[in-house]
Amino acid sequence: MAGVMLHPWPVWVLLTAVAEPPPVAPSSSAVLIRRLLAERLRRRWRAIALAVLYMAIAAGATAANAWLMEPVLDGVFLGKDPALLWLVPLGVIAVALVKGAATYGEAYLMSATGQRIIAEIQSDLFAHLMRADLAFLRRATTGRLLSSFLNDAQLLREAVVRGVTGIVKDSLTLAFLVGVLFYQSWELAIVTLFVFPLAILPVRNLGRRMRKASHITQERTGRLGALLNEAFRGARHIKAYGMEDYEGARAVSVIEARLRSALRIIRLRAAATPLMEALGGLAVAAAVFYWGYRVIEGTTTPGTFASFITALVMAYQPLKSLASLNAALQEGLAATQRLFTLLDLEPTIRDRPGARTLAVTAGVLRFERVGFAYGEDAPALHEVSIEVPAGAKVAIVGPSGAGKSTALNLIPRFYEVGSGRVTIDGTDVRAVTLASLRGAIALVSQETSLFDDTVRANIAYGRPAASERDILAAAKAAAAHDFILGLPHGYDTPIGEDGLRLSGGERQRIAIARAMLKNAPILLLDEATSALDLEAERRVQEALAVLMRGRTTLIVAHRLSTVIDADRIYVMEAGRIVEVGTHAELMARRGHYARLYALQAGGAEEPPAAVPPVARRAHA
Ligand code: ATP
Repeated sequence: MAGVMLHPWPVWVLLTAVAEPPPVAPSSSAVLIRRLLAERLRRRWRAIALAVLYMAIAAGATAANAWLMEPVLDGVFLGKDPALLWLVPLGVIAVALVKGAATYGEAYLMSATGQRIIAEIQSDLFAHLMRADLAFLRRATTGRLLSSFLNDAQLLREAVVRGVTGIVKDSLTLAFLVGVLFYQSWELAIVTLFVFPLAILPVRNLGRRMRKASHITQERTGRLGALLNEAFRGARHIKAYGMEDYEGARAVSVIEARLRSALRIIRLRAAATPLMEALGGLAVAAAVFYWGYRVIEGTTTPGTFASFITALVMAYQPLKSLASLNAALQEGLAATQRLFTLLDLEPTIRDRPGARTLAVTAGVLRFERVGFAYGEDAPALHEVSIEVPAGAKVAIVGPSGAGKSTALNLIPRFYEVGSGRVTIDGTDVRAVTLASLRGAIALVSQETSLFDDTVRANIAYGRPAASERDILAAAKAAAAHDFILGLPHGYDTPIGEDGLRLSGGERQRIAIARAMLKNAPILLLDEATSALDLEAERRVQEALAVLMRGRTTLIVAHRLSTVIDADRIYVMEAGRIVEVGTHAELMARRGHYARLYALQAGGAEEPPAAVPPVARRAHA
């Protein structure tokens, strides 16, 4: 359970998230690029400008290398010029040094800028999402959000780095190299410029097929991830139904499908190199024939040939980068758009203008004809009126899906009421600041969230500055002190995912200690559904009894046995309050409550809830 709570995103989520096809960016690229420049790149312009300068130098050096082939061949080897014998190697060394330094500077600056942008976006996004509406966070799948943090931020970085590098370095290198081509032989340069695009067509075609196959492979990898997750999580059911072979066959078919598309990529990739080599061979053969003819004729030198061919070969790399630049940019822009959409998200639940600070005096909690619906769904609450007198213990009971937790969530404004109002001491919860409202409420819920930290930090969650004495007092009151001392490092024992696993009852007592330390006047209890053993249950109930003392308490109860002593019990069904009274009154009425009670007293550990009475009786 701890694993699920702390890291609700298993690896397969990542896999499926990666396999999600990128949605097409509907808003125009220009707008996105402008926004990216203004919001993310402007403050880094110095680093980027310097990188651009280095790129220009590196591009020039690359072209110089190609040009140098001419004096090497004609001057040193054929001309046998002793002066050039010294000069040319020195020139080669100088060019290499300049190019090396410039490439280092450019690569470092661009990569560092890219990484800084990722870190900045991730921090912004996290801070932003922490303030997003609960409704949004519940709706957005963890996988999708995770994918934004990891993949989208990465894609954006790639787009920025590749965009700048492509536009500046690759284009300049290409331009300089084309300059060398024209310098050495303008006629052949023109021919090349026409023939080259034709030759590149089959290569592009291959590339397109490869991308498609790679996309399919990713998708199938995602499917495999989902299947593995399903199979391992559902292992108990698979065994119970004897479906091992069936699942095995299903896995084999998914694995085989992935293999088929992976093999397709391998075939395409294997074909790419020979294809390029054959095309290159053709080109070189033509050039050798033409140049050889002209050298024999005496109208040109072998050095120009070497220089031309070198420039041509060198042009391949920047050209290849430029050819795939658009795809990378589009992908990056789609990711940028997804990130911006998340960053633009405005929470709808926030302080209203003129919101006051809530000062709880008596602590009377009231629902006044509250109606609520999740989004477009059918209403989950209809005209719900509940009153919790100051310091009283009031319970809401009812079958699963009745709307109990929904009602509870409206008090700290995790969701906003649709109609009616929720008040504390007569003040509408929407009229006060969220901080003061939530500061006045302690929530102990069935999903006890322990964070990946020490016991001490988990108790002091929400009050990090709490003194040691207060923490110990809270733990003692929650009957947690003794078991905590028994842990390997006492209060400093790490708990949660990477730390010690605690039992359900221990976890709940830590959560109670946390609420105890918060010392809020209003207490909301969303009772645990998971049954604890009798001893653990008794300890938790005792700790809760201490916690409830002197506080206005509203309990969502699944086990009626725990609320028999409540001052008032509201029975809820399908979003409506159908009965209200004390346990004795409700039992005497022989209505919904009495029926629920009879069912649970009949030995049912679980809430009677989802199982219709008839079915349950038949079962028994
Ligand atoms: P349980 O005893 O099982 O916890 P409950 O009485 O607390 O049930 P709620 O969780 O409040 O019931 O659910 C009330 C209704 O609202 C149900 O129909 C449920 O499907 C729906 N619901 C709950 N949470 C959401 C949500 N985040 N989005 C949409 N519908 C929801």
